Amino acid sequence: MAERIRHDGVLVVGAGLAGLSAALAAAPAKALVLTETPLNQGCSSAWAQGGVAAALGADDTPALHAADTVTAGAGLVAPEVARMLAEEGPEAVRRLAALGAPFDRAADGAFAQSLEAAHSRARVARVKGDQAGREIMQAVSVAALAAPHIQVRTGARLVGLLRADDGRIGGVAARIDGQIVEIEARAVVLATGGVGGLYAVTTTPPELKGEGLGLAALAGAVIADAEFVQFHPTAIDIGRDPAPLATEALRGEGAVLINSRGERFMARYHPAAELAPRDVVARALHTEREAGRGAFLDAREAVGAHFPDEFPGVFAACMGGGIDPRVQPIPVAPACHYHMGGIATDAEGRTSLPGLYAAGECASTGVHGANRLASNSLLEAAVFGARAGRAAAAEAAQAGPLAAVTAGELPAPALKTLREAMSRDAGVMRDAQGLTRLLDLIGALEAAHGRSAPLIAARFIAAGALARRESRGAHFRTDFTDSQQPRRTFATLGDIDRQDLRYAAE
Ligand SMILES: Cc1cc2nc3c(=O)[nH]c(=O)nc-3n(C[C@H](O)[C@H](O)[C@H](O)COP(=O)(O)OP(=O)(O)OC[C@H]3O[C@@H](n4cnc5c(N)ncnc54)[C@H](O)[C@@H]3O)c2cc1C
Repeated sequence: MAERIRHDGVLVVGAGLAGLSAALAAAPAKALVLTETPLNQGCSSAWAQGGVAAALGADDTPALHAADTVTAGAGLVAPEVARMLAEEGPEAVRRLAALGAPFDRAADGAFAQSLEAAHSRARVARVKGDQAGREIMQAVSVAALAAPHIQVRTGARLVGLLRADDGRIGGVAARIDGQIVEIEARAVVLATGGVGGLYAVTTTPPELKGEGLGLAALAGAVIADAEFVQFHPTAIDIGRDPAPLATEALRGEGAVLINSRGERFMARYHPAAELAPRDVVARALHTEREAGRGAFLDAREAVGAHFPDEFPGVFAACMGGGIDPRVQPIPVAPACHYHMGGIATDAEGRTSLPGLYAAGECASTGVHGANRLASNSLLEAAVFGARAGRAAAAEAAQAGPLAAVTAGELPAPALKTLREAMSRDAGVMRDAQGLTRLLDLIGALEAAHGRSAPLIAARFIAAGALARRESRGAHFRTDFTDSQQPRRTFATLGDIDRQDLRYAAE
């Protein structure tokens, strides 16, 4: 029998920006934060480079930011959620700055802002060049550790949810120091991040394997738009796992994409060339590489000698791989970067299961649609994390028996097989043959090792991609290149098992 304890407050799983924002906003209710890795490790938030998108400039408005978000999302963004994100953006950045995040400033003290792809204004607030994630998370972690209502437990891995007969979630099962501990709480906020660890080529920490999504689905939650996975076009191709990132801000600064012949190729794919939407650039790079022409980011002219000061993180990664970006083009490849889909929530983070909330990358509020606008995700984590924390804190304690719904473990060799198959068959370009092969493999791994959270998350992505017989945003089907009527995907695990995906017209 697992030990069972009770926490009189909100239980937050995940200590990235979404989880810590939820915990801070839960005050005065108590918040217990569980995370598998030490603070600021194993979370994408700490790795963010570009910064936080927000309409802070004199030439910008939340309406313009929301409009760019809707356009990038290729017909599937929920406009009212985009409006909410954009309107709360400037305040969210000021809040992070007040916590101590040392945002770069212009001479007059205003936030310095970079231009990134598909933004109509320079609106990405950056920190020490490309150090946004590290610096913001440092400030937020210090605030969380100092907050009297927050307790952080590292080394705690989510393995299941506690569910009542009526479907209400009243706690979690976690592996702590090798033991399974069941923790009851008034409400649970999942903030477990993305799915990069399901892919062989990824820019995210490998610990992020869609486990929150998989376990929420196992407990019966509705999952939305799982097939929409964003591939960052310019991961640095120096054979490292995960692949270091060359931030989009480099292209904003004028760095260009060339092939091994030294030719700029982006104008052949999109009129905005290097500043085309992320999915277009990722497919262009994929095509150039598949054709044997290679792909490189050339910042010699645009950044040159300023590289170590302006982009210290990218500079260090390149130098570590034997590339001096001041004088050499950087070899780049698309890599799994961000999950637009996730646990379906409303704007307060409520999922389809009472008592269960989700925020940040593991959630799907509908704000990203089929393609996330660059630098909207830190903002999403801050804004919707706080909203979810406040709403979860208002939940009353529930009585009634709770049973643990848990999944098994996926052995490391099986995970490796899955990652390779996901990159090959559910990557930048997809087709029915590859996706069917992938679903067969997932079935075989489930038969051999039982149902685990990563396999459930992978199944949602593959099944959603197979069912979506169109190309839209980051989802590109070589066998269905046209777009159909815009519609979001909503499915439970039961729907997926019955191959019965539901769509909602937007
Ligand atoms: C290299 C890189 C650069 C990026 N640059 C930017 C940028 O400039 N601007 C921007 O807006 N976005 C950027 N992003 C995306 C952005 O960083 C993320 O989408 C966002 O930070 C997600 O925040 P989160 O809190 O939802 O998840 P994360 O920050 O990933 O945190 C997830 C947390 O959940 C924990 N966890 C996961 N599984 C379990 C489990 N089973 N049990 C217990 N704990 C678990 C993890 O340990 C971690 O603490 C970037 C991403 C990457 C990878």
